[in-house]
Amino acid sequence: MIITCKKGAPQSEIDKILSEFKTKGLEVNLITGTSYNVFGIVGDTTVIDDRRLMSNPWVENVTRVAAPYKKVNRLFHPEDSIIDVDGIKVGGHEKIVVIGGPCSVEGLDQICELAQDVKDAGGCMLRGGAYKPRTSPYAFQGLGTEGIMDMVEAKRRTGLPIVSEIMSENKIDEFVKYVDLIQVGARNMQNFELLKALGKINKPVLLKRGLSNTIEEWLMSAEYIMAGGNENVILCERGIRTFEKYTRNTLDLSVVQIVKKKTHLPIIIDPSHATGSWELVESMSLAAIAAGADGLIVEVHRNPECAWSDGAQCLKPDKFKAMIDKARAIAHVIGRDL
Ligand code: PEP
Ligand code: MN
Repeated sequence: MIITCKKGAPQSEIDKILSEFKTKGLEVNLITGTSYNVFGIVGDTTVIDDRRLMSNPWVENVTRVAAPYKKVNRLFHPEDSIIDVDGIKVGGHEKIVVIGGPCSVEGLDQICELAQDVKDAGGCMLRGGAYKPRTSPYAFQGLGTEGIMDMVEAKRRTGLPIVSEIMSENKIDEFVKYVDLIQVGARNMQNFELLKALGKINKPVLLKRGLSNTIEEWLMSAEYIMAGGNENVILCERGIRTFEKYTRNTLDLSVVQIVKKKTHLPIIIDPSHATGSWELVESMSLAAIAAGADGLIVEVHRNPECAWSDGAQCLKPDKFKAMIDKARAIAHVIGRDL
């Protein structure tokens, strides 16, 4: 961390700043210039609050050299993390995973049929929302516990591990008991109490990027979960909000390699929420694999026109299979399996 103090800063102010670093066990290197005094702080500067430092009128500038996240940081964990989701490995050079299923669980028959479709197409996990974060309070809110139990039955019949979104801390016991990969949706990416609670369990968490969040904010949310002791985090890019209205969101595929450089965590792509349009899902899925993603999470429905949510972005099972077949070919080109 580099702190620049204004010219003429009284020695008493400089001493005040220095003593704070020293009491926190940090090493301070001072460079005295003609116009500025510059401090180079070495050590674990995550304990320093930059905003508070900036409140000192003699402080001109505070620059962080190191990232504010530690557990997530590849610097402290050079090898790729491989997350085990009920026997399916995600990340590293493991097989690319494809998760498929409806936006919402609509009933036992629907989810069990779709689970079989997903499996037949080559998918290795089943997604399905039972608690839905809907923009309108009047829209379908999900089947709740009944939906989770329908997913459990679909798993029993097909063997596919299940992925579902948690919205509130008070459902953690239910999710720990029944769900294999607990999704934190875009809208809850900065629900810090939820993240802290998920840090105390050891089930894998799929952390989606928030609608308007930077990569650093997203990684800090992953840090919340990992700081609590749960290191089983998979990141998911699902498009961000931009000025563009043609697509539901703007898929930021550059994050795949950025995330891989900055962290050791696996990253998967959600082309369904990223585009909002089934017609774009295949091409964005292929691009995601080519870009180095560790997997995809795709909405699938037998009858999208009648889906209870997100029908416009659901692939029918035959299109889902066709997409996987092409994605497999791309995976082979880049030396991976799917
Ligand atoms: C979902 O996966 O159904 C969902 C609501 O996703 P997101 O949080 O990315 O909008
Ligand atoms: Mn959806």
